[in-house]
Amino acid sequence: MTTQILPITNESLELAKQLLSNGQVVGIPTETVYGLGAVATDSLAVKKIFEVKGRPSDNPLIAHVHKDYDLTKLVEINHPYVYRLMQEFMPGPLTLVMQSKGVVCKEAVCGGDTLAIRMPSHEGCQQLLKILDMPVVAPSANLSKHTSPVTARHVYNDLNGLVPLILDGGKSTGGIESTVLDVTGEVPRILRAGLVTKEMIESVTGKCLIAMHKEGDKVKSPGVKYKHYKPNCQTALFTEEQIDKVNLLYEQALKDGQKPYIMCRSDLIGEFKGKNVLDLGKTPKEIASNLYDKLLEGEKIADLIIAVEMPNEQGVYMGIMNRLRKSCG
Ligand code: AMP
Ligand code: MG
Repeated sequence: MTTQILPITNESLELAKQLLSNGQVVGIPTETVYGLGAVATDSLAVKKIFEVKGRPSDNPLIAHVHKDYDLTKLVEINHPYVYRLMQEFMPGPLTLVMQSKGVVCKEAVCGGDTLAIRMPSHEGCQQLLKILDMPVVAPSANLSKHTSPVTARHVYNDLNGLVPLILDGGKSTGGIESTVLDVTGEVPRILRAGLVTKEMIESVTGKCLIAMHKEGDKVKSPGVKYKHYKPNCQTALFTEEQIDKVNLLYEQALKDGQKPYIMCRSDLIGEFKGKNVLDLGKTPKEIASNLYDKLLEGEKIADLIIAVEMPNEQGVYMGIMNRLRKSCG
């Protein structure tokens, strides 16, 4: 199969609609990361997603809908606070897990009774969802375990020959996957941290819990138990208090004939004068938006990426730290 990359135009959106309606999977841009889309009610198409990605079959998918879509066609909304969250954060990088009405195929929810739903804010993605007017499941458009793509080219590098079309909607501005929030209970619970932070959710609902996943737990959000986001090179992860260890490992790698790169936020660059650095940027939002891009740049030029952790886990740093631990830890 040849894989086309097309910019978003009326013609390419129409082609994507045709392919999706005919049971194909298509690479699509969103504001978080690029997704691999399939119509959520089409069992065969959804199975294709799992095959193409090599995704574990017990890891459910998020259904994406346009901003005027009536969610109650797909799920039960059980608590008044859910409407307030929708009002505040949708469209945007927030996924809500609710009781499914069973419209979406069982492959998409891995046989479960809940469904995760998101309304992406990316303009081109909204246009596609609008002309299709059907829910589209879209996990990140990478091979399972690899770093998530934030450009059409990243998608191509993983899925060339496996999908007919990748819509190019520019670099994803958010840079990390959506916050996944379980809203089936009295109090919302974060299953996966992202750009909509605990603090932002609390400002609407008063309270917000964070799901703790320990080894051996029956996991509420299966995706969080898997290895994830790994670049195709060696990695190491140190805290900001371990700068001396970063430098030691860097020197050792050089001696061993390797090409090491240090990946850190801009404020630490001064600690690594004369060394190869992948600069993540200054603010938490900037760092989130650059993280996967820098990992994917790094895997091409480095044998070893030595990453430095964030200074704390407040706000957006919580999602960044979650991805850093899985990709480099
Ligand atoms: P991905 O689309 O690859 O970024 O992954 C989607 C994330 O949402 C994974 O962590 C899934 O486990 C999680 N997820 C999807 N559907 C559900 C659901 N019904 N209940 C809990 N977590 C879900
Ligand atoms: Mg993913």
